[in-house]
Formats: sequence, C-alpha cells, structure tokens
Amino acid sequence: MGGHEPTYFLRARYIRAVEELGGIPLILPLVAEPSARRRLLDLVDGLLITGSGPDLPPHLYGEEQHYEFPLVSERRADFELELVHQARKRDLPVLGICGGMQTVNVACGGSLYQDISAQVPGALDHRQKTTAVHVVHSVTVAPQSLLNKVIAKSKLMVNSSHHQSVKTVAPSLKASAMAPDGIIEAIESPPHRFLLAIQWHPEFLFERHAVHRRLFEALLRAARRTRA
Ligand code: MN
Repeated sequence: MGGHEPTYFLRARYIRAVEELGGIPLILPLVAEPSARRRLLDLVDGLLITGSGPDLPPHLYGEEQHYEFPLVSERRADFELELVHQARKRDLPVLGICGGMQTVNVACGGSLYQDISAQVPGALDHRQKTTAVHVVHSVTVAPQSLLNKVIAKSKLMVNSSHHQSVKTVAPSLKASAMAPDGIIEAIESPPHRFLLAIQWHPEFLFERHAVHRRLFEALLRAARRTRA
C-alpha cells in the first residue's frame, strides 16, 4: 500500500504456491500497449489471476455502482480483462482466484452481485471473521465438470473472503460449484483446455489440504502442456 503513489501489492503466498508446486512464477506488470501485452503473454505458459481486494468497476458489466466499495484502477481492470480475452484466444491455461474469478466472468460477458449481503436475501456471510487458513462453508461440485475432475470430489470445504460473486454466468461459461445458499463458487469454460475460476482462496489452504493443492497442480500440468 503506497498511499497515493501507485504501488504493486501481491500476497507472496500466491507466488509460493506456484513455486513450491513446481512452477516458475512471473509477475506481469500492467502495461497498456496491446503489442506489449501480447509479448508478455508469449513469455508464459499459463495464467493465475489473483484476487484483488477492491472491486471491478460495475460499468464493465453494464451497471451503475450501487454501493460505496473501493474499486480497482481502470488500468488494472482493463489489463486483466484483456489477459482473459487473449488467454481464451490462445487456449492458454487460466486459474482465476476470488476477484480473478469475477474478472473471468466479466471478461466473458457475465455480471456480478455488487454486494452479496445487500442483494441476496438469506445468503451466508461470505466474509469470514477467522483467517483464511480456516475453511468455513461447503461447496457442491457439478458432476462431470473440469473442477470435479481436478479435485476428484463432489463436495469440499472452502474459505470465504468475498463480498461479491457471480450473478449472471457468462454465456460461454458454466457454473461448476455452488455454496449451500446458491452463491456460485466456481466457473469454467468447457471448450477450453483449462479455464477454471474459483471464488475461494486455495493459496491459504494448499499446504495443509491436498484437495486445494490439486487446483495449482492442475494449472501447472496444463501449463507444461502449453510448453510441450
Ligand atoms: Mn464463499
């Protein structure tokens, strides 16, 4: 957090997860030039789109902002949406996490609940009070989905540190996990090799839970096939 000075901030545990599970992490800077973006993408075999804290500007999915939550910079939003577009075109493996899942959905033409507790009556509190190394709610996984294949489970416990979620699933995507209150917790793109996004934070869980480790391992496996 650099005050008013634009500053890059990324939790090191994302990098640790990729590195400890056999990948080479590379952080991409938010360049604006389209050709520079394409050249950066030429350097990588897959993408991990991380959570962000602030929300995507609602105009990106055709809505006015209804609640006063901090927004990510237009530069970051534009860069990450473009990464998703390019990855779909190239069939580059993508794992979206939390805010990264929301970015994937919006990039593909879906929309978001701007605030679950204000817009979804009876929803669970998806902002856990304990640290994210603890799991707090279950999700049910769609049979025959990529997610189901990756984790080999039809139900699992996850952490939950989000106040937004997918509202309308993008036309080309399908929901592949749901919380008990109906909130969508994972989306994926069936025609693609590996385009999966989840609402929880496996980077807090991978060390202790094999099921969450498998998400990173599957991304890295798909990335190695890009290289091959
Ligand atoms: Mn949740």
